[in-house]
Amino acid sequence: MSWALRFHGVGNASAVELGSPMATIERDDAPWLTIDCGGEGLTALLAEYGAPPRALFVTHTHLDHVAGFERLFVSEYFDAARRGRMPVYVPAPLVPLLHRRIGDYPNVLAEGGANFWEAFRLIPVGDAFWHDGVRLEVFPVRHHWPDTAFGLRLPGSLVWSGDTRPIPEMLARHADRDELVAHDCALHGNPSHSGIDDLEREYPADLLARCVLYHHASRADARALRARGHRVADAGEVLALADPAAEAMA
Ligand SMILES: [Zn+2]
Repeated sequence: MSWALRFHGVGNASAVELGSPMATIERDDAPWLTIDCGGEGLTALLAEYGAPPRALFVTHTHLDHVAGFERLFVSEYFDAARRGRMPVYVPAPLVPLLHRRIGDYPNVLAEGGANFWEAFRLIPVGDAFWHDGVRLEVFPVRHHWPDTAFGLRLPGSLVWSGDTRPIPEMLARHADRDELVAHDCALHGNPSHSGIDDLEREYPADLLARCVLYHHASRADARALRARGHRVADAGEVLALADPAAEAMA
């Protein structure tokens, strides 16, 4: 069994040329679970796989993370073999926000007769959930307002921070199995996102060494982060992951 992480995009909400910040966990060279669904990121995903995601996890509901849902509604609803099948795992506090952002429109079809969520299999989740026989963990991060943004852990393999300020206390608990940590980080931080000064100040060296940074503003910023000795993801890059911890497997 082999596991990998493929970045479909690595940019912030303005750096559309770098793609929406999203990725797919691959198992045995096939898409397994996609994290977020921005517009540009979905375009990159469809170009890579030639098919919509197999399953989705939503970290939060900013549009660069969920704007692709409108297109997915069309591909899922109008294909009888796909309709209502794609699991969409959503931390429970996000369900009303996600519905208001993408699901709540008068008559999703002009001709009527359909509800937005009939296209998907919406699965509200708490601190952990099962996908395809594997137990993944969910934890809150710091992005704007409490309980509106979450990270994802595949124990022993991967921690995906989602958009966040530094969260040393959360990673001490949720990234303590030598996982690769894909982390929000730009050259300069702000009240919404981490900057490299923040992470260098707040994270121990052994954690920073496991981080691969994404959500930057430009290719020049990515080069500057690398020049400071950090690993930075490129759109389209695939990173090998360790096998998940045995206790995460059903
Ligand atoms: Zn965000």
